[in-house]
Amino acid sequence: MSLIVTSPLRGWASAIDSVPDPVFAQRMMGDGVAIQPLDDTIVAPFDGEVTTLHDSAHAIALRSTEGVELLIHIGLDTVALKGRGFTPLVAPGQSVARGDPLIRFDMDTVALAAASLITPVIVTNAEAFTITRRAVDCAVGTCEALMTLAPVAGEAVRRSDDGTLVEQAVTLSLPHGIHARPAARIGECARGFQADIQLVHGGKRGDARSTVALLALGTRFGDEVTVQACGDDAEAALSAIVALLRSDMNESKAPAPAPAVETPALAPGQIGGVIASPGLAMGPAARLRQTDIAVAREGRGAEVERAALLSARDAVRDRIAARAEAASGSAASVMRAHLALLDDPELLAGAGRRIAEGASAGFAWRGIVHDQIAALRGTGNAHLIERVDDLIDLERQVLGVLTGAPVEADAIAPGAILVADDLLPSQLVTLAASRPAGVCLAHGGPTSHVAILCAGMGIPALVAMGTALDAVADGDDLLLDAEAGHVTAAPSPAARDAFAARLARRGERRAAAQAAAAEACHSADGTRIEIFANIGTVEDAALAAASGAEGSGLVRSEFLFLGRDRAPSEDEQHAAYQAIADALAGKPVIVRLLDIGGDKPTPYIAMPAEENPALGQRGIRVALAHPALLETQLRAILRVRPVGQCRIMIPMVTGLSELRQVRALVDRLRGEMGIAGPVEVGVMIETPAAAATADLLAAEADFLSIGTNDLTQYVLAMDRGNPAVAAGVDAMHPAVLRMIADTCRLAAARGRWVGVCGGLASDPAALPILVGLGVTELSAVPGFVAEAKAIVRSLTVEAARGHAARALQCTSAAEVRALAHAFGETAT
Ligand code: PEP
Ligand code: MG
Repeated sequence: MSLIVTSPLRGWASAIDSVPDPVFAQRMMGDGVAIQPLDDTIVAPFDGEVTTLHDSAHAIALRSTEGVELLIHIGLDTVALKGRGFTPLVAPGQSVARGDPLIRFDMDTVALAAASLITPVIVTNAEAFTITRRAVDCAVGTCEALMTLAPVAGEAVRRSDDGTLVEQAVTLSLPHGIHARPAARIGECARGFQADIQLVHGGKRGDARSTVALLALGTRFGDEVTVQACGDDAEAALSAIVALLRSDMNESKAPAPAPAVETPALAPGQIGGVIASPGLAMGPAARLRQTDIAVAREGRGAEVERAALLSARDAVRDRIAARAEAASGSAASVMRAHLALLDDPELLAGAGRRIAEGASAGFAWRGIVHDQIAALRGTGNAHLIERVDDLIDLERQVLGVLTGAPVEADAIAPGAILVADDLLPSQLVTLAASRPAGVCLAHGGPTSHVAILCAGMGIPALVAMGTALDAVADGDDLLLDAEAGHVTAAPSPAARDAFAARLARRGERRAAAQAAAAEACHSADGTRIEIFANIGTVEDAALAAASGAEGSGLVRSEFLFLGRDRAPSEDEQHAAYQAIADALAGKPVIVRLLDIGGDKPTPYIAMPAEENPALGQRGIRVALAHPALLETQLRAILRVRPVGQCRIMIPMVTGLSELRQVRALVDRLRGEMGIAGPVEVGVMIETPAAAATADLLAAEADFLSIGTNDLTQYVLAMDRGNPAVAAGVDAMHPAVLRMIADTCRLAAARGRWVGVCGGLASDPAALPILVGLGVTELSAVPGFVAEAKAIVRSLTVEAARGHAARALQCTSAAEVRALAHAFGETAT
């Protein structure tokens, strides 16, 4: 739990040490921040109560509803004014809300009579709360965050008086809180112990073995959760679950949702949607309608109903387990999540209670599932709400077995486009056998399991299309453009022919691209553009090499560091980097230094919970704060042979000093290791600061590589992991493109090359623009390498420059995409 104390007045915040009064500067009254006032009204810094108001109204003490005790002392030696110039606006004992005026003071009177106007704001109960972050050396406005507090010793193991229960608070490092996959892992871990284990958060508690109960806790990144364990092996269970909760449980490697784009303006006859899986498709609509499954209310006796439920559940479990066995990648992990949900003790216990009260197995199962759905919806967390579909899926499958009603979706004609209000993961898995050409859903979100499954199977899909989709009837002709984000129903013959031609060209291009994948890439007018691949694991390196990658522009080295409880050793790292270098047979390998923090936390690097992790300890800031970790990684990279094949890339750079520190360390280590040959050190351009100072960075960096994923979130001020803004996080936004243009221009003036290793390098619509802006290295996902080479070969740099110049003048990402679409049509 962290608490925010907002500024009680507008002014300049400085360290408490700077107050010219030892009582405050030496923290005799407590720790805090001092504010040089620019305003004459003190307001409440939190919701709470006035505990003391000095008679002369120059100081006020308050207690927040959580128990934080704060003193605000206006000016120094102001007690001597005996109230002159101060107007109290509240009385002791009065309840106040954040922002309520407390004291008004006449700045001129007080300034002339007092030693100083500086106003210490002090936390006086330091034994209970510690300051984890404070604003200093900056301007603060009234009610802006001044200090973040955390309760002291919140994470110690506590034991109940009779010794039977142990508990510990933990701050969640999971990027999206406890959602389906982490809940399944917690359940798995808990099942290895005898102890009863409960997680408590925000007044709710959930059995650690129950996925649904854990989901219903509605936790988010940075939340505090208390783990309680009771029973024989309680201590071991507690420490295992706490360790798990402190880790990121590999969530940073979870399949990323496909990028969604801003919905473009629609032509008549088009229905817009959010892109869940990109691509093009045409075919007849195959409408899927869900039929309700009727269940009897009354049971035939508790024994009979309980046995029926268990056997139905076992049948569904066997079916899903068989599918999980046959599936791979994202499909397999969705199946495993369903298996964990199905075995959820909370669901079974809830159904059992209903059966004991006389309900039929089906009625009881439906009742408990719907209770859990209501709880998930009640969390208001979009990630959790998207899991509702998984519960409905299991509800229907179990009811199907119990009643004999058909729940598997009927097969559709191959090549049809599936149209439905919603689609359940199991239905998609069944229907995939009919090879649908595409999917259009009225509901759903871009991070739902159905979206992830479609992307994994390469089926173009639009979701969240709304009621406009009702107008599409079974058999209607559809043109699905899941690159522009719309579907055209009943198109004109001309539109149909144009789309068919586009699809055919796409197929031919793909085949031709594959045939030429191994050749070096030059534009049509002979400019060398290197097409590299991004690598997340050692296995990816072989895939990249086989796909024709001319090197790796981004080895996400954090794959070695995440999801474990100890940092990898130098030898372990060296072996991994050497294996990647060997797989790429002498081609350049750009290893990005450890990029953790923010959405990629690790349990063994102590980082306090942050209000805003994306703007906190991330990337190179973490590495520089842990020099031993950085040095080990650099040694491991420098040991790779041949020397120089591995280049070093620094993430989340904001200025030259970070590059200089890493360069100095690399040079020292080269000296110590007897490495005479040069080793390139480059920087990632992921922050507006780095883009704006690209000339300064390029003066000393060997190369610049643009991380468009982060650059986009920081330029647009939209969290890349927040589904609420997913539709807007588009790197084709002209503001992002202008940052890329500036970076290329500034780097070219210093003779440095610029690459792109963010998601934009894997977006076919973006490549002509990037080449036109001056990017000469593109590092894409391995599966896109061949196509990227083909696109670049079809371009002249001159045409690309004109196109890029027009893109920079667009007013929105949608306009850029429309322009890119038109360029693609004419250029190919
Ligand atoms: C980026 O930000 O574009 C990037 C490549 O880094 P990551 O996606 O790993 O943060
Ligand atoms: Mg990044």
